[in-house]
Amino acid sequence: MNDRVERETMEFDVVIVGAGPAGLATAIRLKQLAAENDKDVNVVILEKGSEVGAHILSGAVIDPVALDRLIPDWRDKDAPLKDKVTEDRFYYLPSETSGIHMPNLFMPPLMNNHGCYTGSLGNLTKWLGEQAEALGVEVYPGISVTDAIIGANGEVEGVITGDLGVAHDGSHKDSYTPGMALTGKYTFLAEGARGSLSKQLIKKFGLDKDSGTQKFGIGLKELWEIPPEKHKPGLVQHTMGWPLEDKTGGGTFLYHFGDNLVSVGLVLHLDYSNPYLNPFKEFQRSKLHPRIKAHLEGGKRIAYGARALTEGGWQAVPQLAFPGGALVGCAAGFMNVPRIKGSHNAMLSGMMAAEAAFAAIEAGRSHDVLEAYQEALKASGLAKELKKVRNVKPLWSRFGTRLGVMLGGIDMWLNTIFPFLGHTLKHLTPDYASLKPAAEAKVIDYPKPDNALTFDILSSVYLSSTSHDEDEPVHLKLTDPSIPIEQNLPEFDEPAQRYCPAAVYEVVEEGGSVRFQINAQNCVHCKTCDVKDPAQNITWVPPEGGDGPNYTNM
Ligand SMILES: Cc1cc2nc3c(=O)[nH]c(=O)nc-3n(C[C@H](O)[C@H](O)[C@H](O)COP(=O)(O)OP(=O)(O)OC[C@H]3O[C@@H](n4cnc5c(N)ncnc54)[C@H](O)[C@@H]3O)c2cc1C
Ligand code: SF4
Repeated sequence: MNDRVERETMEFDVVIVGAGPAGLATAIRLKQLAAENDKDVNVVILEKGSEVGAHILSGAVIDPVALDRLIPDWRDKDAPLKDKVTEDRFYYLPSETSGIHMPNLFMPPLMNNHGCYTGSLGNLTKWLGEQAEALGVEVYPGISVTDAIIGANGEVEGVITGDLGVAHDGSHKDSYTPGMALTGKYTFLAEGARGSLSKQLIKKFGLDKDSGTQKFGIGLKELWEIPPEKHKPGLVQHTMGWPLEDKTGGGTFLYHFGDNLVSVGLVLHLDYSNPYLNPFKEFQRSKLHPRIKAHLEGGKRIAYGARALTEGGWQAVPQLAFPGGALVGCAAGFMNVPRIKGSHNAMLSGMMAAEAAFAAIEAGRSHDVLEAYQEALKASGLAKELKKVRNVKPLWSRFGTRLGVMLGGIDMWLNTIFPFLGHTLKHLTPDYASLKPAAEAKVIDYPKPDNALTFDILSSVYLSSTSHDEDEPVHLKLTDPSIPIEQNLPEFDEPAQRYCPAAVYEVVEEGGSVRFQINAQNCVHCKTCDVKDPAQNITWVPPEGGDGPNYTNM
């Protein structure tokens, strides 16, 4: 991870990678503690998006528990979270036309969305960025972090940012500038689900040796503007069932917020087994169900995006701290799967990490393992919340949607009433190992886009405002370039052609032979390929800072 290139170096007390809810909560809490104790702590936060919030894609129904603790007067500070949940609907969809309403009464209390807010996590993140800057945090968007700086004793001393001005073939353009080194007493990784540097450091320090395998889902989302007479700010709707087969986990979400805006999306568990399944097309056809269509008809689609989310829950949380730093937020995986909520836990974990780091810096320490963060987290409400739901995902994966979710519901009730019950189900297989051979799988016949409710993939990617410099190295690295055609194609009909929500991967036939094409400029940075490639042959690395999607209101 270290190299010998001459780099400009900047020194800080704390370096944070990723300006999402986790990274920003870490930075804000550090500055608050410094101000309360009349101390000075230099905090820098690096974000690969062109601006803070540009790469954030979420639902979102937001539980304000963390915001209430971090910025108690957020409601008076014009935070972009205005719509309190007014109605909470949940349906099981047995078919493409029918829907069974599930009364909220049957849901364990923690599933209740009342008291939460509907809104855009991207906008909230942008606002948190402004709060952080007002407290003196140095927030630098448009900067990708590619590596860690490892000290003489194996500790993380800081990070290295990506080189700028490298051409497609690796040669240096006139604009070439080597990445910078940013050092800190502690470095926090707040990269979100499947963070690229987090992945490297989890492996280097063996952080996941005692936790189970991490599980992931892919979330696809569109933003719609609908006629005012249909808009019900604060309405929340979730469905399970159609269009997914019973053994494929996932469900749709639909939230009304803002000025006639509706977020509609599908979360699909990445342990699906049919290599012919196409998450993008499943999402498109899900909108044809009357329970969803009724909200969107007469409206206009204005944005699209996709992002992986963690689903392993409490038993998959790795060791958090390593010498010189720690994982915070979804880089560690604090997503509550049945609630489809992780932003509050991302913030809470960042706040706990900040408190441990501030105490350590005050005591004159640096680059050690922040045990206090791990201990605080284990004893926290966040841990209690995740423990209550820890068996839902394993039951869902083992028994399918109908039986698995029912058993998961019973388990949640039991864990709510008898929290001392100790049974924890492990996750059986990593997501990349769940595909069955194409020869044993059924080809799925998806309906053609109608361009009213359902759309093709390229017009969708266009709405993510994604851009990458065409003359830069491909940021989807194949360990063995022969695997897609020689191994994945015959065995799984190369599933990357379908699981990528941005049409990055294509198998192109030319002159009687086939080749694997990577349209890297379309990539929306969801990280699904890094998770799902059956050969684990694809590594997502950050492209130049500022590249990627430019989400608004997502
Ligand atoms: C479809 C979908 C729906 C969801 N719905 C909800 C919901 O309704 N409610 C809820 O609470 N949660 C929801 N979640 C989960 C929620 O979005 C996450 O829990 C939350 O975003 C995690 O915050 P984070 O700060 O850990 O990571 P992220 O929000 O992913 O932020 C990470 C940031 O780090 C940056 N970054 C990553 N790597 C680098 C790097 N190497 N260099 C520089 N910058 C980097 C990224 O660009 C990004 O800005 C949903 C997620 C999805 C995908
Ligand atoms: S290339 Fe990978 S990270 Fe990029 S959009 Fe496709 S699946 Fe997501």
